[in-house]
Amino acid sequence: MELFDTHCHLDFQAFENDCDEVIENAIKNNVTGMLTIGTCLESSTSAIKISSKNNNIYAAVGIHPNHCHECKEEDLTRIEDLANDENVVAIGETGLDFFHNTTPVKMQEKYFLKHMEISANTGKPLILHSRESGEELIKMLKDFFGNEPINGVFHCFTSTKKVLEQALALELKIGISGIATFPKGENVRELIPHIPDKYLLLDSDSPFLSPAPKRGKRNEPANIIHIAEKIAEIRGVSLDDIARITTRNARELFNLKGDNEEGKIAYEIRNTLYLALTNECTNNCSFCSRNTGYDVKGHDIKLKKEPTAEEVISAMGDTERYDEVCFCGFGESTMRLEVLTTVADELKRRGKKVRLNTNGQGSIFHKRNIVPDLKGRIDSISVSINTSNASHYQEICQSRFGEDSFAGLCDFVKKAVPEIPEVICTVVDMPEIDIEKTREIVESLGAKFRVRSFVDVG
Ligand code: SF4
Ligand SMILES: [Zn+2]
Repeated sequence: MELFDTHCHLDFQAFENDCDEVIENAIKNNVTGMLTIGTCLESSTSAIKISSKNNNIYAAVGIHPNHCHECKEEDLTRIEDLANDENVVAIGETGLDFFHNTTPVKMQEKYFLKHMEISANTGKPLILHSRESGEELIKMLKDFFGNEPINGVFHCFTSTKKVLEQALALELKIGISGIATFPKGENVRELIPHIPDKYLLLDSDSPFLSPAPKRGKRNEPANIIHIAEKIAEIRGVSLDDIARITTRNARELFNLKGDNEEGKIAYEIRNTLYLALTNECTNNCSFCSRNTGYDVKGHDIKLKKEPTAEEVISAMGDTERYDEVCFCGFGESTMRLEVLTTVADELKRRGKKVRLNTNGQGSIFHKRNIVPDLKGRIDSISVSINTSNASHYQEICQSRFGEDSFAGLCDFVKKAVPEIPEVICTVVDMPEIDIEKTREIVESLGAKFRVRSFVDVG
């Protein structure tokens, strides 16, 4: 497991006597990446110094909105120079703070504007600080960047759902701090399920905001595991999943190379091993995640080529620790029926529970009933039925088989029910879907019915 702390202040006085131990302790606790953040010229210079001595530490340079009034005009020019240093991967922290009110608003705005310019000129992302100023911050960002995606992170997010939606629309990443673990952090916990995986980051804000159970003590990067655990609990995924997702996001944001394997055939989420056999599909669903990229829970599953059965078995490795193995991926596994059955035979030989996620069009694709091929090999089939009628199905799923696809799917389900131990049809809870009508159809086919939430919790 690897964790990335995207916001700490290792140059602060709190770490004066034991900074090296703090860093060592973080690394020992799987925090393999840390961004130490400057808050004035002196602190930015120190951040670079700390980063230059440690391979795991990167620097951000900037003048914090609460410190602008203590700075000299030329400090900003110096920050601009420092921004080009090779250890610097981000600009900030900068933004607006209407809570502490140490610096006049006009001055904060002037400094913020300059940081946006530096970010635009260097291509390095912004580290955004905001207290009681979410809407004003978004407005200034939009005025500067237009509606283009913005390269940056809204650090220690505590603002409203509306501001979260605006930030996500601008493609800003969202930093979650220890506040998520505080008894009073309910508003942050409520927002956590609404942040799609690819925008989520961990943010210790050390030496401040120690998460539970370390509250009251000085915070340090090693403690971000407690934030990750809380997020995992809220989103119903594993700690490993959150570590992988957030570390990948941090590396992508700061343009750092990681050991992220591309084009994974086998990938783990919670206690399940997923297998991707193809990126081809007989559908072209409007909501398909392939339209926005091939990332799933921090895994890159855009296959470089379609794997053979031997390649899939080799990619699976030791399957002992998984509760089940599931054919899934961004594509329709039944299109590669021979590979699927060969791999399923191997999994059955190992005594594993095997699941298949499918669009239910395998029989139409192969022009024959494929249920006998799945019998004895697959324990559970999950079919995305998506809606209650053929024309709406075709409208949202754009199957290559046209409106016949829905009848084909229903026929597949009906034939699978007596042969496969569990057959489930799923639908996503969206306003335009007639959930009750879909339930009736599914029950008439003899399958189980499951409504999935549209919120991205895994
Ligand atoms: S069936 Fe699944 S993989 Fe195929 S297009 Fe639809 S959502 Fe994507
Ligand atoms: Zn900070």
